[in-house]
Amino acid sequence: MTDRYAVIGNPIGHSKSPRIHALFAAQTGQDISYQAILAEKDGFAAAISAFVAAGEGPARGANVTLPFKEEAFRLATRRTARAAAAGAVNTLSFEAGAMIGDNTDGAGLVRDLKHNLGCDPGGRRILLLGAGGAARGVILPLLLENPAELLIANRTEETAARLALEFSRLPGCAVAVKPDSTGFANLAGRQFDLVINATSAGLSGAVLPLPTSSFGPRCVAYEMVYGRETAFMAQARAAGARVADGLGMLVEQAAEAFFVWRGVRPHTAPVLAALKGN
Ligand code: NAP
Repeated sequence: MTDRYAVIGNPIGHSKSPRIHALFAAQTGQDISYQAILAEKDGFAAAISAFVAAGEGPARGANVTLPFKEEAFRLATRRTARAAAAGAVNTLSFEAGAMIGDNTDGAGLVRDLKHNLGCDPGGRRILLLGAGGAARGVILPLLLENPAELLIANRTEETAARLALEFSRLPGCAVAVKPDSTGFANLAGRQFDLVINATSAGLSGAVLPLPTSSFGPRCVAYEMVYGRETAFMAQARAAGARVADGLGMLVEQAAEAFFVWRGVRPHTAPVLAALKGN
């Protein structure tokens, strides 16, 4: 019987996850199916139940995307440490009546930076823009790489401050660097080696009020949004930074989920190349 997987979100029509997982399965010889499921805004739990109940083979897991990552966190019967730190779940595994919640977004970002872009966060001065779910998911994995500094800047400064405080007090987590926070207005004169845009400003075309000085010499600018040239990418290019979009993160977080489910780590380079091809 073919093991079944799905991605659940709203909207979902744009999702590249079915294609990515089909390519992973073909490459690794795994017998799985993977479908996209559109859930009503108040129907996430019902969509999960229906997915588990229906179909030929056993339902083994699901990816969760906007706007259900927090609900998936609450619904999970067990959570991994990285999901607990993120407060959000993007990967569910169904095992003997249990629903295990994991979060592979941060691992995906770090892997894309290190393996695909040759940008090790270790020792770098990192500026993280945004304090929503995506920012929350990547803070612990970034801190575990031992950056020289991690500054969180957000339009709503209090949200960044709350996030920095929370992550500087993580129980049982020995990280050398405590994150700090600020508003955009206080960035003038400060320089960074890695600037990560985890805001959704790129989706609306909004321009972030970033000083050019934020992009230090040989700076890498990482935009989590993919599939379009955002204002942040244009700003970073103009300031001389090396720019990457979030397609690599998308593929790497999927590879991490595939590894969690199947115990096999797929090669991501050919999949990334296939997605860039069209
Ligand atoms: P979210 O929870 O809604 O948070 C949105 C963040 O963006 C908040 O910090 C918000 O600031 C900020 N923001 C929104 N509009 C802004 C503007 N015009 N100017 C300045 N700041 C603005 O969303 P999320 O889940 O964190 O997702 C953020 C982005 O990451 C999305 O575009 C998503 O597609 C992308 N993402 C990509 C991947 C990937 O695999 N590549 C994975 C996860 C997420 P306030 O607090 O002030 O509202």
